[in-house]
Amino acid sequence: MFKREELLGRTFACSCGQTHTVGTRIIRYAEDAVAHLPADLASCAPGRRVAVLADTRTWAIAGRQATESLRRQGWSCQEFIVPDRGGKSPVCDDVTFDDLNARFPEVDAALAVGCGVVTDLTKWLAFEHDVPFAVLATAPTMNGFTSANVAPAIDGVKTLLVARAPVAVFAVPSIMAAAPFELAAAGLGDAIAKPVSTADWVLNHLFNAEPFCKPCSELINSLEAYYFEFPEHLRERRPQAIEALVNALLYSGIAMTMIGTSAPASGGEHLLSHTLDMMSALDGQEHDLHGRQVGVGTIVATVLYEKVLHVERPKPLPLPDMDGAFWGPRVDHVGRQYEQKIPVVEAMAGKMRQGGLWRDFVDRGRPLVRPPSQIKDCLRRAGAAHTCADIGCSPDRVRCAMLHMHEIRKRPTVVDLAWMLGILPGAVDDIVEDWLMD
Ligand SMILES: [Zn+2]
Ligand SMILES: [Zn+2]
Repeated sequence: MFKREELLGRTFACSCGQTHTVGTRIIRYAEDAVAHLPADLASCAPGRRVAVLADTRTWAIAGRQATESLRRQGWSCQEFIVPDRGGKSPVCDDVTFDDLNARFPEVDAALAVGCGVVTDLTKWLAFEHDVPFAVLATAPTMNGFTSANVAPAIDGVKTLLVARAPVAVFAVPSIMAAAPFELAAAGLGDAIAKPVSTADWVLNHLFNAEPFCKPCSELINSLEAYYFEFPEHLRERRPQAIEALVNALLYSGIAMTMIGTSAPASGGEHLLSHTLDMMSALDGQEHDLHGRQVGVGTIVATVLYEKVLHVERPKPLPLPDMDGAFWGPRVDHVGRQYEQKIPVVEAMAGKMRQGGLWRDFVDRGRPLVRPPSQIKDCLRRAGAAHTCADIGCSPDRVRCAMLHMHEIRKRPTVVDLAWMLGILPGAVDDIVEDWLMD
């Protein structure tokens, strides 16, 4: 297994056969992180001009303090307060980007102060202007701080842009612990997806020749143990629990950057969340935070995995036709993904019938995937979302998302296996009734 701290800023040949690069050179999780920020940033930037991005809340929490600290050490700072949208938090889309981009000055570095949206916008702008950027994280809410990916809405469609990872990430433990609890609980939901995403990664490695990196998949396992064992410590905001969560989120982002895809931290469980977001774009009903929906998706995916890994001799069925009417104006976008998946899944079905590879997959998958009862128990005890109602959905809305979530991405996951093995659509009602009602 990798030693976490030894990965930072390195390019190295891995035992998995690939060469990995970790662009992030500094991770500073300390009460005095802001005091170190000016010198740390100077060690990664060609000059002393920085654009600081925050929203109104994160500016008050840490942005002003960081800017003062930078100025005291000779930095020239230009502040950008990303405006709220429609009375709510800012959004990362082409409208906000174009507005900021038009005003973006010539600088040597950028600093994001905040969480998902501010980090994504800064990442996008820094990439566009080819300058290094750093993050001062204000809540342990998702694993995008250290990743290279940006997930903006462009023309209303959720898109994935590959930019660059930050050169440095700073976080102050007392600020992380004081963040609104639902943000930390959302972070847990995103981190807890890991066992499912790893099993889906093994699936794609064995059946679809996706490169797999064992040390990378093990990278955050040692941290996972803590919050699985003591989930209530997160609710109580104990420092050790917050730190374990922060590390799990930062290093799962680093794992994604090393591999160059989201495979280490995103599998079938994420599809429920992405589908609920897309349904919101279609009907205007609000959706919940990414990590809260992913936590619920992880319960669903582990129930499916339990059934899938019980199948000894698979007799795979073809995937159903896409429900075009459901996707309305998004039908072409979804259809292109689903079309690409069909031949991949057909080839998988042929290999599944032969038996040997399937037994390999079952043998490797069983020790990876935790039972749904353990996932649900952990989320419940931590005070995180674990029912339909918790994420603001009727049981029918979750059923609907479960029946369409295999359509939105071309990469096969446990959700496709469940369709191929005849577990879906039949299991949907029982999953909602038995696992997501209380
Ligand atoms: Zn996620
Ligand atoms: Zn590797």
